[in-house]
Amino acid sequence: MTDAKIIDGNLFSARLRDTLAGHVRAMKDAHGVTPGLAVVLVGEDPASQVYVRTKHKRTVEAGMNSFEHALPADTPEDRVLALIAGLNADPAVHGILVQLPLPRHIDSQKVIEAIDPAKDVDGFHPINVGRLAAGLDAMVPCTPLGSLMLLKDRLGRLAGLDAVVVGRSNIVGKPMAQLLIKESCTVTVAHSQTRDLAAVVRRADIVVAAVGKPEMIRGDWLKPGCTVIDVGINRVTAADGSKKLVGDVAFAEALPVAGAITPVPGGVGPMTIACLLRNTLVACARQHGLPVPEV
Ligand code: NDP
Repeated sequence: MTDAKIIDGNLFSARLRDTLAGHVRAMKDAHGVTPGLAVVLVGEDPASQVYVRTKHKRTVEAGMNSFEHALPADTPEDRVLALIAGLNADPAVHGILVQLPLPRHIDSQKVIEAIDPAKDVDGFHPINVGRLAAGLDAMVPCTPLGSLMLLKDRLGRLAGLDAVVVGRSNIVGKPMAQLLIKESCTVTVAHSQTRDLAAVVRRADIVVAAVGKPEMIRGDWLKPGCTVIDVGINRVTAADGSKKLVGDVAFAEALPVAGAITPVPGGVGPMTIACLLRNTLVACARQHGLPVPEV
């Protein structure tokens, strides 16, 4: 039997993808427009290849066009920038995602800034970062957006709740904090220099862990009844020598204390791709001046 405390990201994301597929069909039928997502992969990093394959599969399942651009690891930076310029100009492409990390000889920030902000479905362009910080409509990074959806689904209104985000990266921690501020939470952002992290976490009604350290956040750090969103994905070796994935939160310890918690895997992970599709649909609607679906 599934524990009611466990937030099922697989189920939520499958429903979201179904809803998105419905909007895609409606957009095609009513306006003859099909959302298109271009994914740029440079090099042969095995984890990135897996992500890109999954993104392609999910994009096609949702009825969208998927354009894959796989380039060799030694592709010069100006060649990548030229590809981005071509995708910016291509009317069939509504969203552009550059799979990170890029090989060292390529300046990632320069590549991110070359993407048309209207097609920046990862939400990493400084225009979108600034718009989010200013509380304006923006392309929001997919992992924090998916995390927020799970929180709102579980808790409803978040206003007034104490939220602690552990981690301050540009792709998870900072945008997550911005989203929670927008929801009128009282937000603390903790990081590697935070003093007495356990005491900081213990204040939180909402804990978002985005650290990249296996099971660092212990059960006795949590306020009873709090909601835990575990963004961490860490590959560890189990006692029997097998490999397994764990989050940044010690799940077995946290489960009896928390009011609700996302598992790893099967929590935030599947939300990221679903939100990428959501952002592509929204970007497409905006680029064609169509009503933006409420998803
Ligand atoms: P980064 O390495 O970019 O950032 C990690 C953050 O954790 C930093 O802000 C760092 O602080 C902080 N940190 C490190 N050690 C400690 C510590 N001991 N105490 C408190 N804070 C600490 O990671 P990401 O944000 O990119 O990713 C975080 C995790 O989320 C990873 O496991 C990653 O795999 C996962 N992830 C999952 C995704 C998904 O789809 N579910 C998507 C993206 C990431 P400081 O800034 O001071 O160095």
